This record gives sequence, C-alpha cells and structure tokens, in this order.
Amino acid sequence: MAKQVFDVCIVGSGPGGGIATYVLANAGFKVALVESGRRLRPGIDYNGHGNAYAQLEERLKAGHRGVFPSVLDFSERNHFTAVGDRPGHGLLKALGGRSLCWAGHSLRFGPGDFKRWPISYEEVAPYYDRAERLMGVYGNHDGLWNMPDGVFQKTVPMRCPEMLLKRGVQRLKAKGRAMEFVTQRKAIPTDPAWKRRATCHYCGQCMNGCDIDSKYTSANTPIPLAMRTGNLTLFTESTMTRIVMDKEARRVRGIEYVNSAGETASLSCKTLVLACSTIETARHLLLNNLANSSGQVGKSLTSHFGLDVIAIFPELRNRDASNDDGTDYYHSLLTGLHWNKPHPDFDMTYQVQCGAGLNPKRLAVHGLPGYGSAFMRQLRYLNVCRAVMNMQGPVAVSPSL
Ligand SMILES: Cc1cc2nc3c(=O)[nH]c(=O)nc-3n(C[C@H](O)[C@H](O)[C@H](O)COP(=O)(O)OP(=O)(O)OC[C@H]3O[C@@H](n4cnc5c(N)ncnc54)[C@H](O)[C@@H]3O)c2cc1C
Ligand code: SF4
Repeated sequence: MAKQVFDVCIVGSGPGGGIATYVLANAGFKVALVESGRRLRPGIDYNGHGNAYAQLEERLKAGHRGVFPSVLDFSERNHFTAVGDRPGHGLLKALGGRSLCWAGHSLRFGPGDFKRWPISYEEVAPYYDRAERLMGVYGNHDGLWNMPDGVFQKTVPMRCPEMLLKRGVQRLKAKGRAMEFVTQRKAIPTDPAWKRRATCHYCGQCMNGCDIDSKYTSANTPIPLAMRTGNLTLFTESTMTRIVMDKEARRVRGIEYVNSAGETASLSCKTLVLACSTIETARHLLLNNLANSSGQVGKSLTSHFGLDVIAIFPELRNRDASNDDGTDYYHSLLTGLHWNKPHPDFDMTYQVQCGAGLNPKRLAVHGLPGYGSAFMRQLRYLNVCRAVMNMQGPVAVSPSL
C-alpha cells in the first residue's frame, strides 16, 4: 500500500499546534499531529483534589515538589538552562503542551499594541471574538482602550485583599496616575448554560491542571474537535528528530521521529507546521537551516519574565475568614501603566498580575508550632493576608545570544 502523504504535518500540540490542527482539519486538510508526550488523564495523572497523604511517601521519594499529582510533574524544568536563567519555564511534554499548566489568562492586544504592526486591532478583533467563543473566556467589561473587552462569560469577583488594592489604585488615580485595576480574564467557563466544557468550581488549582477539564487546553477543546472531522491522525509519544527535505533541499517532504518503542519512523507531508514552543521551534529551524532568510530565527526572544513583590495588609489582622475561592492565585490585574505616557525608549507596557487570599500555600507565616484554640488564635493573628504582585513584561535577550 502506498504510504499516506499528509497535507499538513504539525509538530507540537500546545496552544499553537492545537489551534492549527483544529482550523486545518476543519478546512478539510488531512493532518498529522506529532507530539512528544502522551495524553494525560485529568483526575488520574493529575488531581488537585486527591488525598495528599495517600501518595506522599512515594512522591517525596520520586523528588516531586507538590504533594498531589500535578501536570507540572511532566514538565522538563531544565529546558532553558543552556540559554538563560529561567529553568522553571521548560517544556511540558504531553498532549496539549503548556496549555495544561497555563493559568488561562486571555487578554487581547489593544490598538496601542498594534501601532507598529502592518495590521490593525480592528482587523484582528473578529478573530479574538471567535477564539473567545471557542475557548470560553470569563471577564468583566471594563471599557479600557488598550485592553479591549471581548465575548465574556460572567466574571469572577475579586478577593478581599484585592479590593484593598483596588481602593489604593483609585486613590492614586485621583492624584492623576494612569493605571487601572481590574479582574483577570481567563479561558475558564463560568456560565452553566455554556455546554462545551464543565463550569468552573473555583478550586484554584488551574496551574496544577484542571481535573474536571473546565480550563481551556489544546487537549480538551481543539484537538477533540479536530478528531471529530475524521481528518486528524494523532502521533503521541513521538518526537520529531529530523526534517526531511527534497533532493534540492528546497521543499519539505516530511519528518523523521522516534516513537514510544524507541524506533525511528518517518511520515510524509506536503506542508510542515512547527509548533514545538519558541525555543524548540527556533532550534529545529536552525539545525535544519530553514526559514531564516531574515537571519532573525532564535534572536530577540522574549522570556516570560516575572518578579514577585509581596505586600502584607496589617488591617486584615484577626479578620474573619473570607470566601477566597477563585481561579488559581493570580486573580486581578494592574494595567494601563505607560499607556498615556510611554517612555521614549520603551513604548510597551507591563501588566502586574495580582493574587491574594487565604490560600494555605501563600499565607504570610509558615510552620507555626502548636495546636488547639491557642494555635488557632495565633494563626489568625499572624496570618495577615498578603498579596503577591507578579510583573510580566517583555525582556529583550542580548543581541549577541
Ligand atoms: C505555569 C505557566 C502559566 C502560564 N500562564 C499563561 C497564561 O495565563 N496566559 C498566557 O497567555 N500564557 C501563559 N503561559 C504561557 C503559555 O503557556 C505558552 O506561551 C504557550 O503554551 C506556548 O504555546 P506553544 O504551542 O508555542 O508551545 P507549548 O505549549 O510549549 O507546546 C509545545 C509542544 O511541542 C511538543 N514538542 C516539542 N518538541 C517536539 C518534538 N521535537 N517532537 C514532537 N513534539 C514536540 C511539546 O511536548 C509540547 O507539547 C503560561 C506558561 C506557564 C509555564
Ligand atoms: S479553579 Fe476552575 S478552572 Fe481552575 S482548576 Fe478549579 S475548576 Fe478548573
């Protein structure tokens, strides 16, 4: 039998590869999706609601960081060490890639962000609408010019200390500072009438993996939808090792990959989409000397840069517990910085992601000794609520790298 030639081979099933698979399979193309990892089972391979003690000894011996099974168990944390200082941001080898551990924050670029692009926000806006409908995004309609509103399901309210932060921002705004404090927008459905995935139950485990598949991932939405078209062939536990070119080295003919049995195999395609994450995609293009007529492949990479600033609220000392359920830790956003007064050397913006609440992992005091009511009183007094602000902004890597 003649070997099948796929219209498109897509390597990598994260947010990039997942959506490409969905769109191309729906357009009628025969698609091969090649993914290094396997399909993880929500609630089994990762489960934020599991009994921590049942597996504690086994997990400690295996060197895992968390007490219950998490998608982060499958991440390759040393992926970046060769090129940078962020070993925490490696690949997550599984069907869905890092969409399994992402927090779901889904913000639109605004008109200001498109200033130097050849396309405008107005041209892209209808595609944001389509993406938000597919993903199921909650958010508030805040009416901000450079963080446009979208097709949102009902928002998740701020937690108690976040309300204090908002009050502080309002005071600064009254003094003329340009900034906004709003709730996050996340690809997590909150409307039970929306039937594509389960509605969130606000357990806050999103970055450990959502065990009810409420949070959008490539593995729970675009890939199953593509599967239904009959146009998708899935190759999991298959790692691309080489891009195969024609004799003239002008056109891609297929790829070689290593399958789960450790055997080398190949597949043929007319078009290749590399979606192996930023660093891996650039690495394969450079290794194969492809698509680099600009000389830019692998340069000017932007890290997912973050810096935590922690604030403690003494006024929350001894307070009654509040309902701090919600979607993971980072829950609100300080934005609008630099929108009205850009720095001459930096016309972009920083978002400051804010999280707060009585999550035991994030309390201000850890390892307090004691027991009983005296212990409870001490805990209530010392565990004043804290807010963590994580700045995220673009960072240019040294041009010499
Ligand atoms: C903890 C965390 C939280 C985040 N939260 C957010 C957020 O809230 N909002 C947001 O916008 N972004 C967030 N991000 C960033 C976001 O997850 C990434 O930008 C996004 O996943 C990148 O998508 P990708 O498809 O390019 O790559 P990836 O998601 O990394 O997927 C690449 C896939 O390719 C596979 N692969 C690689 N090499 C090969 C090979 N040779 N052969 C076969 N398969 C291969 C990998 O196994 C992987 O599945 C977060 C990231 C992390 C780590
Ligand atoms: S908070 Fe919602 S989306 Fe996040 S893990 Fe829990 S159920 Fe899933």
